[in-house]
Amino acid sequence: MLDFFTIFSKGGLVLWCFQGVRGPAATAPVNALIRSVLLQERGGNNSFTHEALTLKYKLDNQFELVFVVGFQKILTLTYVDKLIDDVHKEFRDKYRNEFQQKGALGLLNGTFDFKDDFMRLLRDAEESSKVRAPMVMKTFEQSLKSQKTVKCMIETRGEKPKEKVKNKKNKGSKKDGTEAVTAPSKASAGDKQLSAAGDKEELTKDEILQKNREEFFRRHMKAGEKSRSPKPDAQKEKGKKPRVWDLGNSNAKVLDYSNSATNGSAEACPVEEFDPDMALGDKNREPGRLYDLEYESDDEAEEEKVVQNPSKPSVKKGGLGGMFGMLKGLVGSKSLTRGDMDPVLEKMKDHLIAKNVAAEIAVQLCESVAKKLEGKVMGTFTTVTSTVKQALQEALVQILQPQRRVDVLRDVMDAQRHRRPYVITFCGVNGVGKSTNLAKISFWLIENGFSVLIAACDTFRAGAVEQLRTHTRRLNALHPPESHGGRTMVQLYEKGYGKDAAGIAMEAISYARNQGFDVVLVDTAGRMQDNAPLMTALAKLIAVNAPDLVLFVGEALVGNEAVDQLVKFNKALADHSMAQTPRLIDGIVLTKFDTIDDKVGAAISMTYITSKPIVFVGTGQTYCDLRSLNAKAVVAALMKA
Ligand code: GDP
Repeated sequence: MLDFFTIFSKGGLVLWCFQGVRGPAATAPVNALIRSVLLQERGGNNSFTHEALTLKYKLDNQFELVFVVGFQKILTLTYVDKLIDDVHKEFRDKYRNEFQQKGALGLLNGTFDFKDDFMRLLRDAEESSKVRAPMVMKTFEQSLKSQKTVKCMIETRGEKPKEKVKNKKNKGSKKDGTEAVTAPSKASAGDKQLSAAGDKEELTKDEILQKNREEFFRRHMKAGEKSRSPKPDAQKEKGKKPRVWDLGNSNAKVLDYSNSATNGSAEACPVEEFDPDMALGDKNREPGRLYDLEYESDDEAEEEKVVQNPSKPSVKKGGLGGMFGMLKGLVGSKSLTRGDMDPVLEKMKDHLIAKNVAAEIAVQLCESVAKKLEGKVMGTFTTVTSTVKQALQEALVQILQPQRRVDVLRDVMDAQRHRRPYVITFCGVNGVGKSTNLAKISFWLIENGFSVLIAACDTFRAGAVEQLRTHTRRLNALHPPESHGGRTMVQLYEKGYGKDAAGIAMEAISYARNQGFDVVLVDTAGRMQDNAPLMTALAKLIAVNAPDLVLFVGEALVGNEAVDQLVKFNKALADHSMAQTPRLIDGIVLTKFDTIDDKVGAAISMTYITSKPIVFVGTGQTYCDLRSLNAKAVVAALMKA
């Protein structure tokens, strides 16, 4: 019934393999398991599906071994878990000495004659699943109900609590005591929460965003640049006046189209009103360079000290020291058990959720870390907390580092060589920043010497075309043809409203090819992920025009909602596509990163769920507020208490 069972070292050495009679070779499915699960830190559950096969696996972290069994996914083999456990135990015990004494060399030179043992274990496991006695229903006399008398079913006011207390006392009278003591403190915590919520309510949403933004820029200011940060007192004085985004030397007026008076028309927004300095943001940056996200993590250093010097107790409260402080304790050279890790993992899970990581994903991540560490021997001077934290940190960085790197500039150059424009389609729900970030990306491409045609395929939302027209005009003002040898660096291709978006995109691409534009950026109408007709239209636009890159634009601000959008967009593109192999989302633009302070969990959730890279990060409203993702910086922000 089994297709294969294989045992290999984490270094990639196959130690032993059982091949079923008709089963497919283990190589391809096992390689897929290694690529998609083991290397991608997605080992939360023990099962993986590859084409028609189900693979179940178990890690031995002490000897760095992996046990994998493969069988047809239509089969329900109840004995597989037992088999894999039994094989693991027997194999490890049989060759323990070899592993311990010879280490990696033992694996290289070892001969593992395990066939007879395996066949015996397989037979036992199969038998055990057969011999399980059929379930017999309890007789009435055996059931609890039969012990109930009519009297005990009558509830009198005084009696019920007494009974409950009795039951509890049976379980452990200590518990009652602690409950009685902790009850008031719980209430006070609740009060505190309420008052905190009350405080928060006093701030408007805008004010909270502004606060987060201030915090974001404060972190991003390097020592030398700190002098440019505004004084908070000056901010306060402004009260309810229209906000000026002076933190990034930007001005919301420049890019805010919510006001109908400035809705893009030439008269309403004359070119002379546009201040290039404000639209540009940071003047000291290197033109055309896509900077990495920066994030200072002050607690990181503190935690490192604790690990290096465990004899000195950490005096500083708060930070990760505070969060995990109570769980710290030297374990010495012993192998980690689930019991050791559980309290730490529980704290970490809550911490991740508090940072906006989707709850389900936080659970899976912690589970994956536990599986990776269980049985691993820790160094003498490491704590459970530091070991688990380090493993989690590595897992998070791994998740954020994409399997496939998207290098837009290289791909544009490649398309240039083939004398065709490179096409990027932007999709997402309304208001997430599609047009704004499309304009930022245009600016970055122009600074790198590429000409851009913007295809206005949002033929739905009033003002969408005008918004792009204004961006085009401003980008042209910043990069006039005179400074590019008479070449128009950015142009808008638009056909007004109510037309077929897929058709406009197609015309735009052929126009770009004829006119020699390097890149076509296709703006699409915002749509809710559940709107089937609009999702079909998007799938059609993508299928017909086959863009080089389909970017999903999602706000970092909304956290879990962005994950739902992303999953449903991907699914809808698959469902509504007529093609056999539907074109899905290739990458993510994570916007409004400046408004979330250190609640960066959406970045993890989005990449974890889709395995797609975050190609650009929007960090503000000026043309320069575009960054590439720096996995380590995001993880540092995520781990920060
Ligand atoms: P669309 O409907 O998806 O095209 O969204 P828009 O491009 O019109 O953007 C909606 C709002 O979000 C505008 O006010 C933008 O200025 C703002 N916005 C876009 N990206 C960012 C960003 O990275 N940070 C901040 N703070 N605001 C942004």
